[in-house]
Amino acid sequence: MKIDVLTLFPELFNSFLEHGIVFRAREKGLLDIQLHNIRDYATDKHHQVDDYPFGGGAGMVMKPEPLFRAITSLLQNEKLPVIYFSPQGRLLNQDIVSRYKEKERVIFLCGHYKEIDHRIREMLVTDEISIGDYVLSGGEVPAMVMIDAVSRLIDGVIGDIESAMTDSHQDRCLGTPHYTRPYEFMGRTVPDVLISGHHKEIEKWRKKQAMDLTMKRRPDLYHGKS
Ligand code: SAH
Repeated sequence: MKIDVLTLFPELFNSFLEHGIVFRAREKGLLDIQLHNIRDYATDKHHQVDDYPFGGGAGMVMKPEPLFRAITSLLQNEKLPVIYFSPQGRLLNQDIVSRYKEKERVIFLCGHYKEIDHRIREMLVTDEISIGDYVLSGGEVPAMVMIDAVSRLIDGVIGDIESAMTDSHQDRCLGTPHYTRPYEFMGRTVPDVLISGHHKEIEKWRKKQAMDLTMKRRPDLYHGKS
């Protein structure tokens, strides 16, 4: 999978791309992330990327020309998904992540300041995604959220894909409690079933715990289950 990220702050991604699952995915050649600085596509002397909003008001707006040049130079007449991260977009969830995992190539556009010029959203953006009902200062963290969530689902990235498949939200259900050694910690012991060696019983217990937790905390997920 190849992801081209358009941003004004590519250096924000440096440490993120060099560690953990995302690094492993890249090292194995399963994920190719290319960072592009939108400023490089501004052709004026000062490489200006933002300007005052028409109609007045606070905040700067990202200019359309550098964005247009940046996106079209990546598209090269191909029809690729261009995702703009925006609090106005579709709320990200595991179903959406799983769908993106199937794509061969996508372009991520990170906004900044007040907004990007609306014509870019109309002309070139194919999907808008929000990572939650709150406002961040830029689309870089949302892009990293999406890259992280997608990369751990790519076959061959996590050693045991079964682990990713039993996490919260994979089946519209929250995860189950987990314990590790020691058996007793500050007077609290591990549920007996987990040391019983009965795999079927353990499985049943885990499913029930996950179900009960989902009903209690996120009934909306449980009732949306297909
Ligand atoms: N004026 C905009 C908010 C701009 S915030 C509005 O009212 O909707 C600046 C940038 O941060 C956005 O362009 C977007 O790329 C990013 N951003 C902020 N919050 C986000 C969220 N919840 N999900 C995804 N991207 C977000």
